[in-house]
Amino acid sequence: MAKTLEDRRTFLRNVGSGLVATGSMAALASSAQAAHHEAVTQTKETQAAITPEKALQMLKDGNDRFVQGKLLKRDHLQQVKATGAGQFPFAAIVGCIDSRESATLTFDQGIGDVFAARIAGNFVNDDILGSLEFACAAAGAKLILVVGHTECGAIKGACDDVVLGNLTQTLANLKPAVAAVSGFESDRTSKNGKFVQAVAEKNVELTMQRIRQRSAILRDMADKGDIGIAGAMYDVHTGRATFM
Ligand SMILES: [Zn+2]
Repeated sequence: MAKTLEDRRTFLRNVGSGLVATGSMAALASSAQAAHHEAVTQTKETQAAITPEKALQMLKDGNDRFVQGKLLKRDHLQQVKATGAGQFPFAAIVGCIDSRESATLTFDQGIGDVFAARIAGNFVNDDILGSLEFACAAAGAKLILVVGHTECGAIKGACDDVVLGNLTQTLANLKPAVAAVSGFESDRTSKNGKFVQAVAEKNVELTMQRIRQRSAILRDMADKGDIGIAGAMYDVHTGRATFM
């Protein structure tokens, strides 16, 4: 949008003096509205200007837009062209593979906005940590957001001690969260929805801790305030992410 404030003032003066036709006034109004709702494609400059706090707020605002049905306008092909020579995402999101929880969609982000690591049960291992180190230390992301969700099949599987091929080892990564939730003695299985939810929340908390414990690079960046590490729970019934 090239219109400066001065252009607007001139325009409004001209409207007042009858120099501008009604049609062009409508065109300006609609283009101003489009500009207001248009997504920004991240560049080296916009990424550099984003703080960890601002990055978190951008994801909160994005989820607000998502649940209100007020998504920003994006020309994805244009964003592809704009980011082809280089990417400058502002955040890295660790989420579950669950088909209902696509973080890029549910936080209303576009091409080049966020790194996304997806794995059943949204935990971190050496490979995910390496990916996050790339995202933050090499590619400039300002925030790591760990997103758990309601009705998580992986969490339910861990609660029920499911044994199934390679999944057995995957679910072993979630067992510390199961063990860390006390109480619920009458039913500590996937049939107890409150227990499952408590384990999913604990898993986000432990994943955030593990990022700090197992990556000296990310811990140092967080301690210096270069990045933030945050958590959220996504509700598959409402589309709302609740930040911790
Ligand atoms: Zn899940």
